[in-house]
Parts: sequence; structure tokens; C-alpha cells
Amino acid sequence: MYAKFQVTRETAGDFIRLFVNRRAYSIQSSRPLPNGSFPYYLARDWRTKEPKPLDDDAVRMHLNGDITISLYAINPETQRSKWVAIDADFDGAIEALFQLQWELKQDGVQAALEQSRRGGHLWIFGAEPLLASECRIYVYNLALRLGVPVKGGGLKQGIEVFPRQDRLDGAEYGNAIRAPLGVHRRTERRYWFYEADLSPEAQLAYLDGLKKLTDGELKTFIQGMSLPEAYKPAPSVPYIPSASGTDNQEFRILDFVRPTRKDSRNWWARCPSCAQAGRDRSGDNLAIQIKNPRLYKCWAGCRKEEIRAALGRPIHKRASA
Ligand SMILES: [Zn+2]
Repeated sequence: MYAKFQVTRETAGDFIRLFVNRRAYSIQSSRPLPNGSFPYYLARDWRTKEPKPLDDDAVRMHLNGDITISLYAINPETQRSKWVAIDADFDGAIEALFQLQWELKQDGVQAALEQSRRGGHLWIFGAEPLLASECRIYVYNLALRLGVPVKGGGLKQGIEVFPRQDRLDGAEYGNAIRAPLGVHRRTERRYWFYEADLSPEAQLAYLDGLKKLTDGELKTFIQGMSLPEAYKPAPSVPYIPSASGTDNQEFRILDFVRPTRKDSRNWWARCPSCAQAGRDRSGDNLAIQIKNPRLYKCWAGCRKEEIRAALGRPIHKRASA
């Protein structure tokens, strides 16, 4: 069982200063789905159903251990994030994160390593909110230089970088990451940062004391760099209206899913059937051939019938001959 705390409003304020750049947040379910996962739901006002802004009280409950929240990196008004978190949960994850931490130190960046259920999260904090797109260029190039695998771009295993998007439309949230210093509902454990005592106050004091990355430093580090080709976001898929007439019932997968990226052969998108089962968090199990978008395949093994059913467009069996 995990330790309960009674943190002050001031401690909640310290947490918000470090981690919160956008007030929307999610709450982790305290009960598992039938498949054993503990999903997060966007926090909403129960009356208006509008997204609820994160406040001191919710942060205190998170730190105390009463609820568990996750945070969105990017504020769509500025396209900036206060932090970069590198999530790794593959074999050798911790070694890869230590390697990244050491390499960052050579740039004068002090990154903090947090334990997680299956690996760790490495956090870099901005002295001010930093452009998400620039953070991503920096970390992707650093990882590739070190030979640390980055998920996506054809790799199923590797680090994931939050912010996961270069920019967001105002109505988008992007991907959330479990907020540090709380309780993971699945394991009922807290996962702490390695280099500080095990209380919210000591951990926040440690994080506060780290040297933060400035906007100017980041711009210098990424001079002349761009996001590696394989990881560039997919351009939006042109909408091709279906031909009117008898053909307009043809099923088009691209009318239903939104690709997260593209490589030379395929669009990659969240598999609707996986998503229904609470899987495919990285949103790229489904490959859709660019040349012929009628051909698509879930790499986690969902059958076409399952994908179509998940979209509410089941495949009608032809009358048997
Ligand atoms: Zn699937």
C-alpha cells in the first residue's frame, strides 16, 4: 500500500509552477476495465460537462494519494510546454534513460529520472515554456545520435517523447502523461524521482533546484536540425468526396481514422478495434497503404471484421452462393 500525505496549498502551488501549463487534465479510473487497464478520463464538470480546470484542490488530492491525474504537455494558445518527458518501458529502458540523462548533462541540461511501472520517465524542465516543436527536434536528434530507439517511424519499441505533437489545434488535447508524485492505480504504488527523499515536498524541492533549459539554449542546441524524416507528422489527408451514385456507400477507412504519421508506404493511425479495448496508446497500430487506402492492417492482429465493427460499419456478409 502507498503512503498518504497531507500536503499544503503551497506545495500544490510548487507542483503547478513546475508541471502545469494547461489547466485541462485527466483522472485515472480507480477501477480496472475488464481487460485490466486503468484508463484516464478527461476531467469534466459533472453539471456542464465542460472540461474542468486543474486547481490546487485537485493537485493536493493527487499528491495526497486520493486521486491520480495526468497532464497535457502543450498549451494550444502558445504551442509551448513547460517540460519534456521521455517515457521508456522496453527492455533496457532505464539504461537508455541514464544514457540520455548523461548526454543532456553534457549540454548543461539537468534532467530528472522518475521510476515508472515498467521503466522510467526522464523529465527536462524549461526555464520558461518552450515550443513543443523545438523540444521534439532536440530530443529526437539526441536519441538518434546515441542510438536510443524512438518509437514510431517503423519502430514498435523505443522511447516516447511528450509533447507527442509539434502543435495542437485549439480543440485538441494531445497526449497526456501520468503526473509525477502520485499513486499509480494499477499497482497502488508511488513512483518517485531517484535523487530525492520520498515525500512530495522533498521531491519538489529537488526538482525546483535543477537547472532549467532556457528558450535561447534550446534554439542553439537545435540550430540547423529538424525532426528526423521518419518521424515527421503526417500531412493531413486530402478529403476525397465519394462519387455520387451507386458507389457512395464504399467504406473508406481514412474517413474514420486520423493518421498520426506517414512513411514512404503507409499512413499510421490508431486502430479503432484496439482503441475500443483500451490498447494502442501510441496511436499507430493501424497501417493504411498510401497507394491503395483500401488495404489496411492492424499490427496488433485485429481482424478487418473487428475494425469495421468497432467503427459501427460492420462488413456485411455476401449471401452465400
Ligand atoms: Zn487493432
